[in-house]
Amino acid sequence: MSFDYDLFVIGGGSGGVRAGRIAAGYGAKVAIAEESRMGGTCVIRGCVPKKLMIFASSAPEMAEESRGYGWPDATSGDFSWPDFKAKLDAELDRLEAAYTRGFEAVGGTIYHQRAHLTGPHDVELADGTRISAKHILIAAGGRPHLPGIPGEELGMISDDMFLMDSLPGRVLVVGGGFIACEFSTIFNGLGVDTVLAYRGDLLLRGFDPDLRQMATDQLNDIGVDVRLEATPVKLEKSDDGIRVEFANGSSDSFDRVMFATGRAPYTKGLGLEAAGVKTGKNGKIIVDQWSQTNVPSIFAVGDVTDRVNLTPVAIREGHSFADTVFGANARFLDHSLVASAVYLRPHEVATIGMDEDEAIARGGVDVYDARFRPMRSLFAGSEARVMMKLMVDEQTRKVLGCQIFGPEAGELIQLVAIPITMGATKEQFDQAVAVHPTLAEELVTMRMPTRRHEKPEG
Ligand code: NDP
Repeated sequence: MSFDYDLFVIGGGSGGVRAGRIAAGYGAKVAIAEESRMGGTCVIRGCVPKKLMIFASSAPEMAEESRGYGWPDATSGDFSWPDFKAKLDAELDRLEAAYTRGFEAVGGTIYHQRAHLTGPHDVELADGTRISAKHILIAAGGRPHLPGIPGEELGMISDDMFLMDSLPGRVLVVGGGFIACEFSTIFNGLGVDTVLAYRGDLLLRGFDPDLRQMATDQLNDIGVDVRLEATPVKLEKSDDGIRVEFANGSSDSFDRVMFATGRAPYTKGLGLEAAGVKTGKNGKIIVDQWSQTNVPSIFAVGDVTDRVNLTPVAIREGHSFADTVFGANARFLDHSLVASAVYLRPHEVATIGMDEDEAIARGGVDVYDARFRPMRSLFAGSEARVMMKLMVDEQTRKVLGCQIFGPEAGELIQLVAIPITMGATKEQFDQAVAVHPTLAEELVTMRMPTRRHEKPEG
């Protein structure tokens, strides 16, 4: 049977493009359908513009630190959103062009329209064109999930931030996860009066308990009005913007309200039923370790499968899929040990492997815990504290996890991820000679455990 393509990818984001490029490198005839801009969520409306905004938002702190270092007149002045936005738009155009060129350079074809499945080997484009492919990869990503409260259409989502013509004077950010914490930090640094409302008692549920506490405290310290156990139940237009009613009966007004209440797989209207592809909770596509669905010719990677929803994971899944199916090099991604970072200011949250809640539940874990005021910010007059924690198996001495709260923690965890992924022991960590004076030297100089979590009885 002959097909139009060896591989047809739905979704031109990080996972889909990587899979397509690698498959094409093995000689496959490949096409992608992308209904929006090439590059997907991470490049166009996620990680990349977000991180540039984090950089932009740190200027006032840099000026403050400079004053602490003997530059009495240092000031960041006023932030110009139009200036920044023009540069950001140009950078996103550049990246989108690079993604497009990179895919076309390996012989790939891009259809700039939506596609849906019509069978195990068939897709239909929005203009009605029908295309057949030996293999189909779904990499359509995720979409924000809204809480379902009256008036929520008055709110915005994080994607909208990159389209705003001006910054609001006062904003409410709803949620307590990655996006809520990062965007509150950004708004605050850019001079917006920022309120964060989270339904739980501590931000970043699912993270190490100390990281959660430190992140919550830091957001308060930088001037975000963090309201815990606060749930908006209704939004309505008012003379002074958007009036928000909370579950406890209180209300408040804002210029903008941003929902950062999670994301869900973007599978609606993809024709999964027509092709017989099984889905699970929230519409996620069910796949095995090879990213293969129950329909042998159809695979799925990235947020659409709701495994670990991070760009580098989607990229690895897409790459492994292409190696396996087109490169005769079968491999899959082990999702059990994936590092991640939440980009806050001045200190970031970074994590890999076991956290302390998990150490307590499992037992038999020594915790090495260092907390200190780093020399750089201390000299400038800041009381901000860094934390670095290693979870070590009491018997095997293997380092099971690392939790960091500190400047550039995302950079640090990337490096710690190497020995931890290799299965290094605490003693092997300590064989590395410290680089002095750095923050990271603490990772190889923590001599004694701070505490031990014993195995639970029985
Ligand atoms: P998260 O799942 O991280 O957080 C969602 C938040 O919304 C939680 O605090 C949750 O509360 C709250 N929430 C959910 N439903 C409601 C509701 N009905 N009413 C009020 N609050 C609600 O999702 P995000 O949107 O922050 O981010 C989506 C994903 O994007 C992340 O999981 C992550 O994988 C990825 N991402 C990664 C980044 C990075 O690597 N730096 C940056 C940004 C995003 P509760 O905790 O109580 O459930």
